[in-house]
Amino acid sequence: MISAINSEIIPENWYNVIPDLPEPLPPPKDSKAEFSSINLLNKILPKEVLRQEFTFKRYEKIPDEVIEQYEQIGRPTPLIRAKNLEKYLDYGGKIFYKFEGATATGSHKINTAIAQAYYAKNEGVNGVTTETGAGQWGSATALAASLYKLPAQIFMVKVSFIQKPLRKIVMNLYNGNVVPSPSNLTEYGRKILSENPDHPGTLGIGISEAVEYALDHDYRYMVASVMNSALTHQSVIGLETKKQLELIGEHADVLIGCVGGGSNFGGFTFPFIPDHPDTEIIATTADEVPKFSKGDYKYDLMDSAGVLPEVRMYSLGADFVPPTIYAGGLRYHGASPSLSLLINKGRIKSDEVNQEEVKNAIRTFANTQGIIAAPESGHAIATMLNYVKAHKNEKKTIVVNVSGHGLLDLSIFQ
Ligand SMILES: *Cc1c(COP(=O)(O)O)cnc(C)c1O
Repeated sequence: MISAINSEIIPENWYNVIPDLPEPLPPPKDSKAEFSSINLLNKILPKEVLRQEFTFKRYEKIPDEVIEQYEQIGRPTPLIRAKNLEKYLDYGGKIFYKFEGATATGSHKINTAIAQAYYAKNEGVNGVTTETGAGQWGSATALAASLYKLPAQIFMVKVSFIQKPLRKIVMNLYNGNVVPSPSNLTEYGRKILSENPDHPGTLGIGISEAVEYALDHDYRYMVASVMNSALTHQSVIGLETKKQLELIGEHADVLIGCVGGGSNFGGFTFPFIPDHPDTEIIATTADEVPKFSKGDYKYDLMDSAGVLPEVRMYSLGADFVPPTIYAGGLRYHGASPSLSLLINKGRIKSDEVNQEEVKNAIRTFANTQGIIAAPESGHAIATMLNYVKAHKNEKKTIVVNVSGHGLLDLSIFQ
């Protein structure tokens, strides 16, 4: 019975927004003459992921083996009407939240990790590799690899490796091999360590190490966000939400989500773009990383190491060093090209909230709905609370994506 209902809600196809954009998406390009990042992608990504990166097809069939694993890790995730919060806010409209924290790894990242690991496994490669900061992406990669019986080599930014031992334990439990980056597993890492044995590491160094490791060991590189293929895989969030709303006869007037690289946001909102022209869509970021209000819409490097191609996006510059905010997933300097285009054309609005508002929002949500949201998701909740305050008498149906739970981030409340 449950399985029958589940399979009705989990979509059969992912949705790709590219053909529905208001104008053609500027393509990725190489930034250096001496070395082609685009050729590099050909070698390090599973072929199917690479094809999905550049396709103009609107729908992409989700392989049965991936749907099976989606069910195993907790899909469909619940869409819950936040009635306690509505009462607390004395709001005449409706508030719903989609809860990606209900997946096995506690965030949406597993949705694309499973797809990428599946395609890598199909190619008969030796394993998968990636970088991770706070460890959310590393945990998703480790579990997805483990589900398809592939080794996972994870390069964790050294300062996070030291400060966030719990996520390292999670990755180890899922059979992931985790090393602090810079590491001595790669030539690039060894070079940095020989210059400075106490280097704290950066995501850029982690990416370089993972790419080198993939090339040398016939592994495939797993991409957390920003790239179109990752957003396509994440569309399972929005497609489920549409179906769940349809089943109860509701229409979304407003959609709100948070943006790091744009994967949970694009996955949640893009499926509404073709047939919900009147739905208001709001992308929230941290005001410490004000990419949409203070960044430029330009070609820029996807990563500070310059290993991956340049893409046209809102960016604060690949060398932007954000202040230490506790929402680690929102520190990225740019945002996915398709999302950037939709913001530039005015179809999607943006908002920024600060850490104090976010903490209060997480508290309010925990006290009314019981869910302790991830700091990243707290930004979306804060924007939603501000929206309700500003539109008190409009009785809208607001749907917010809670991209993850915050049970491993509790130290922010110490
Ligand atoms: C990584 C992460 C984000 C930010 O990444 P996107 O690609 O923008 O979705 C947001 N929320 C949670 C819980 C995360 O782990």
